[in-house]
Amino acid sequence: MDRDTSIAIIGGGIGGLTTAIALCQKGFRPTVYEAAPELRPVGAGITLAINAMRVFQKLGLAGRALEQGHPLEELRITDQQLRPVSRTALGPLIREFGVPNLGIHRGALQQLLLEALPDDGIQTGKRLDRLEGGEDEVRLYFEDETVVSADVVIAADGIHSAARQQLFPAARQRPSGQVCWRGMCPADITPWQRRGTEAWAPGQRFGIVPISEGNIYWFAVVNEKRGCDWAGLSKAGLLDAFRPFARPVAELIEQTPEGRIIYSPISDLEPLKKWHSKRVVLLGDAAHATTPNMGQGACQAIEDALALAGCLSSLPREDAFHAYQNQRKKRADRIVRQSRRLGRVAQLDSPLLGRLRNGLLGFLPSSLALRGLRELAAGSA
Ligand SMILES: Cc1cc2nc3c(=O)[nH]c(=O)nc-3n(C[C@H](O)[C@H](O)[C@H](O)COP(=O)(O)OP(=O)(O)OC[C@H]3O[C@@H](n4cnc5c(N)ncnc54)[C@H](O)[C@@H]3O)c2cc1C
Repeated sequence: MDRDTSIAIIGGGIGGLTTAIALCQKGFRPTVYEAAPELRPVGAGITLAINAMRVFQKLGLAGRALEQGHPLEELRITDQQLRPVSRTALGPLIREFGVPNLGIHRGALQQLLLEALPDDGIQTGKRLDRLEGGEDEVRLYFEDETVVSADVVIAADGIHSAARQQLFPAARQRPSGQVCWRGMCPADITPWQRRGTEAWAPGQRFGIVPISEGNIYWFAVVNEKRGCDWAGLSKAGLLDAFRPFARPVAELIEQTPEGRIIYSPISDLEPLKKWHSKRVVLLGDAAHATTPNMGQGACQAIEDALALAGCLSSLPREDAFHAYQNQRKKRADRIVRQSRRLGRVAQLDSPLLGRLRNGLLGFLPSSLALRGLRELAAGSA
C-alpha cells in the first residue's frame, strides 16, 4: 500500500499503540484516535508471553520492556495452601527464542509504547461515534462532533468496539461465568522471584506475578453465584472470600489500597466470520477478545499489530486485509476456545474433581505443558 495512504487507528490501547509503532516503522504516518481524555498510566499488571516479547524484539521494544518488567522463568500451579501442583520451567523456550515471559505494570508498558511514537501520532478525547462511507474513503464521526476522513481504518477499540458493533452487529459477547479483581501492591518479591504462580481452589483462583523489584501484581477470580453482588464487594468481602487460602494471599490484598482494586466481569467474543469490511479492519480485542486464563489477549493484539503492518506494507489494501486475516484468525480463534476451556478446568466447583485434576496435573510430564507453550511462543509469523 502507498505510504501516503491515510490510516486512522481507533483506540490507543496495547493493540492500537503497537500497530501504530509497527506502521511507523514501515514508513506510514498513522493517527491514533483515543477516547480517554488523556493517556494516564493506570491499571494493574499484565504478563507478556514469549510470543509477544518476540514481536517486541522485532519492533526494537524488548530491551525497554525487560528494563521495566520482571522476567518469569517458571509457571507454577499450586493448591490453595500454595503447595506446588505443577511446575513448568520455561528455560528451554527462553533459550530457543531468546526472550522470557515478562510481568510488567500496564502503565509502564503503555508509557514505553507511547515513547516509541511521534508526539503528533495520537489524539486523545476522541471517542468514535460512528463510521460512514467506505467506498472511496471512511469518515469518522467522534462524540466531540469532529469528523475526519481516512483511506483505511484500523479498529482497535477493545471488546466493546463501536466500529465492530456497526460493521458486524450480530457479533456476540459471551459472559464466562467468572469475575475477577486485580491489584498491585508493594511487597518483597523474593518468595515469588522469576515465577508466575496460580493457586487453584474450588471455584476460585489467585494469581501472583512479580512485575518489578518490590512490586507484585495479583488477580483473584471467582465463579459467579446467583444472588451475589460481586461488583459491590468491598475489600473486606474479597479478603473474606480468599481467607481459606494461605496467608500471603490475604497479605497481598491487605497491602493494596481499596480504591486501586479493579473489578471486571470476564467475557469473550464469539469468533467472528470476518475481521474486515471495505476499508475497515478489526484488531486486538475488537476482533477476538478472549478470557484472560491463558494471559494471551494483549499478546494476540501485539501479534496482530506486526502481522497487519507487514501485510499493509507489501500488498494493496484489500489483499492485505485478506492476508492479515489468513495469517491470524485461525490461531486467535483457537486461543479463544482453549482459554475458555482452561477457565472452566481451573475453577471446577467440585472439591473432589479439583483434587482429581490436581493429581492428574502432578503426574503430567512438564514436557507436555512445554509443548503447548512452545506452540504459543512460536507465534503466527
Ligand atoms: C482481568 C484481565 C487480565 C488480563 N491479563 C492479561 C495478561 O496477563 N496478558 C495478556 O496478554 N492479556 C491479558 N488480558 C487481556 C488484555 O487486557 C486485552 O486483550 C488487551 O488489553 C487488548 O488490547 P486492545 O488494544 O485490543 O484493547 P483495549 O486494551 O481494550 O484498548 C482499547 C482502547 O480503545 C479505546 N476506545 C474504546 N472505545 C473507543 C471509541 N469508541 N473511540 C476511541 N477509542 C475507544 C479505549 O479507551 C482503549 O484505550 C487481561 C484481561 C483481563 C480482563
